[in-house]
Amino acid sequence: MDTDFLCNQVYSDLFQLNHTSLTIHNLMNKPAKTGYYGEWGGAFIPEVLYETFRELNAAFRTAKADPAFWREYVALMSTYSCRPTPLTHADNLSRHFGGARIFIKREDLNHTGAHKANNVMGQGLLVKRMGKKRVIAETGAGQHGVATATMAAKFGFECTIYMGEEDVARQRPNVFWMEKLGATVVSVTSGSKTLKDAINEAFRDWVTRMEDTHYVMGTVCGPHPFPEMVAWFQSIIGIEAKKQITEQFGGQPSRVYACVGGGSNAMGIFQGFLDDPKVELVGVEAGGQGLDSGKHASRLAARDASAGVAQGYKTMFLQNSDGQMMDTHSVAAGLDYVGVSPILTDLWQKGRVRFGAATDAEVMAALDLTIKKEGIIPALESSHAFVQAFKEAGDMGSNDAIIINMSGRGDKDIFTIAHAFDDPSWKEFIRKKGIEYGA
Ligand SMILES: *Cc1c(COP(=O)(O)O)cnc(C)c1O
Repeated sequence: MDTDFLCNQVYSDLFQLNHTSLTIHNLMNKPAKTGYYGEWGGAFIPEVLYETFRELNAAFRTAKADPAFWREYVALMSTYSCRPTPLTHADNLSRHFGGARIFIKREDLNHTGAHKANNVMGQGLLVKRMGKKRVIAETGAGQHGVATATMAAKFGFECTIYMGEEDVARQRPNVFWMEKLGATVVSVTSGSKTLKDAINEAFRDWVTRMEDTHYVMGTVCGPHPFPEMVAWFQSIIGIEAKKQITEQFGGQPSRVYACVGGGSNAMGIFQGFLDDPKVELVGVEAGGQGLDSGKHASRLAARDASAGVAQGYKTMFLQNSDGQMMDTHSVAAGLDYVGVSPILTDLWQKGRVRFGAATDAEVMAALDLTIKKEGIIPALESSHAFVQAFKEAGDMGSNDAIIINMSGRGDKDIFTIAHAFDDPSWKEFIRKKGIEYGA
């Protein structure tokens, strides 16, 4: 597989980005506003972490300016994961909707089944450069925990994953694999015993073990430089997609769709097209049981969120008037988050990225259709992007192409999907398993 274009073209494209759409990269010239995208982002960290962040920023700057680092990254991703991932023309779905030609960017074919590999493997290489020996991470549903534990096994790092007690109970298969991969999973019993408590606990750990430990942030959120760093590693998706759509379709897509939890897969693919204003970028959030139900995780499409500072950065959060984080809901665990990338909030505010939301019910229908028509099983998270694309594909013509970023595969969601479809033989299977274990 030819990956030369990734080493060369990617690198120059990224430098182009530095001067245009993203204001990230010239931030070093403006110390007062380091790590801001418009008014969003920043690095709100406790003083004890200043030195660690100074060191992290320096290591990241050096790595980013070094073409050899990116080459090492591309070599790793094309041998240990499946880069470049294919762009699949979904001709059955295209015919079904009778409008735009639908293409699917196949991040599901990455190692561990999602785009998360792009980020964790990149941070792993950075940890090696910094000479650290231990990584920690927080995880909600467990996907980021599994990806981080995988990276740690590959690089020989010690690994501790923080996870809320509730999530440990709900996500046993992922906890099982993290432990098998050699990670220590710490069940967090404080607060609501979910993701945000796990984040607090992971920061507490980092403060006590800064010399040898790196915190592997899972998405384009958190204090600077994490949004920029994760966006950079994920940009490989967009660089590939731009080349692939040019080869297969002979031009640029009219629209690009991606689901948005924290925003890393969306930022990944969007970066390939940010500079071309003719390409409309569409982020799709979790509409849960509907935007009026109060049970959703839509920060930007629903207009329920407000500006705030939490977890080390400034963005739009779902919070009450006292600034307490609200409980979010989504059938897709990976989209069930109160905050959103400061980079996306800025691009939304500037009108560059449009936001929509897909409900749990719509997600199940789109998932079902995609499986039947294309023989492809998208993750519940990714299916949100499919919903929005399906709503709009029929309004476009065959001269239009659209790309749906399929962030991950749906195999992991078998329990949720089988439950939602109320599959009787699946229930019987689970019941028998229960009896086997003495339930
Ligand atoms: C974690 C996850 C997401 C959400 O994360 P982003 O940072 O918004 O990309 C989306 N899809 C899949 C398959 C995931 O595992």
